[in-house]
Amino acid sequence: MVNSLDTLAAFWQQQSELYGDAALLGIPRGTASFTEQPNVLPVVTPELARETAPEAEQPVVAAKSRKKTLADVAAEAGACTACGLSRARTKVVFGNGSEKPRILFVGEAPDKDDDASGLPFTGQVGALFDRMLTRMGFARGEVYITFPVKCKPPANRQPAADELSACHSFLQQQISLLQPRYIFCLGRVAAASVLNTSADIDTLRSSEHQYKGIRVFVTHNPAALLHNQGLFWAVFEDMKRFRAVYDREIGDKPPMPDAAKPGKNG
Ligand code: SF4
Repeated sequence: MVNSLDTLAAFWQQQSELYGDAALLGIPRGTASFTEQPNVLPVVTPELARETAPEAEQPVVAAKSRKKTLADVAAEAGACTACGLSRARTKVVFGNGSEKPRILFVGEAPDKDDDASGLPFTGQVGALFDRMLTRMGFARGEVYITFPVKCKPPANRQPAADELSACHSFLQQQISLLQPRYIFCLGRVAAASVLNTSADIDTLRSSEHQYKGIRVFVTHNPAALLHNQGLFWAVFEDMKRFRAVYDREIGDKPPMPDAAKPGKNG
């Protein structure tokens, strides 16, 4: 035993003289020993953080980097109290229709029927809109419909500037997520919100516009048409002008029927 201890001590001494204590502790030659190591923490890169994070934390990182969806924006609008319209609403009317629409229709504001159902263009105005849409050759399921404010203004008044401004980011996000090929603004308020203009409705109707590369058309609000059927011919001309562009660029619809007042023949 003594001999063994002596042999081991001699071996230690010899190795220590040749290589230092680090060799006997398994530290490669040329690196600092434990006692010489400065107290430096490794640099935590995002990659390292992902690799070393406990598994339970990984979905949180993924969720934070996930792209916002239309459902996320709808949920935000559903809880929104950013303007006074939130106080009297029954339901938020976020919008409805295809999530890959060729056309995004933007109306003026939800009315009492929309407020009760949570859906755009229900009730009498909705029935008239459906006739317009059918005459243009489209069904609700292939377009998307929304408003520049998602809550009903009292007494069917037009939305005020501060309400439009408070709600504007929801409309912007909808356009950005839906990426429609065309936007059809129904009325001056809708056109003013999308195009950031104060021009009157006839000036807006008479030309085509652009929003971030998307072609924008303007016609009267169906609610205005409901109260003034004299606007029918102007709306019909706007629909025809839009269909001429659509037929030239896409051309997958039968010809648009000739004018027949929707109030009489549907
Ligand atoms: S109208 Fe728009 S901004 Fe105002 S409360 Fe409703 S969702 Fe919010």
